[in-house]
Amino acid sequence: MYEFSCRKCGHQFEDLVSLAEVEAGEVECPACGSKDVERGFSTFATNGGDSFGGGYTSSGCGSGGFT
Ligand SMILES: [Zn+2]
Repeated sequence: MYEFSCRKCGHQFEDLVSLAEVEAGEVECPACGSKDVERGFSTFATNGGDSFGGGYTSSGCGSGGFT
């Protein structure tokens, strides 16, 4: 699942496509049909309410295996 925004009409949408299709430019805007779309972030990364930089440290996960 990828998130896209259309450069032509500005429509934002999500589409369940493979990375190969994305890179081949096979993704088209459902609103205007343009293939001039820009890939955004995958959906799990788009729900940030607060900005980065506040309290996201490497501590607190417990495992400590993150190098
Ligand atoms: Zn569009």
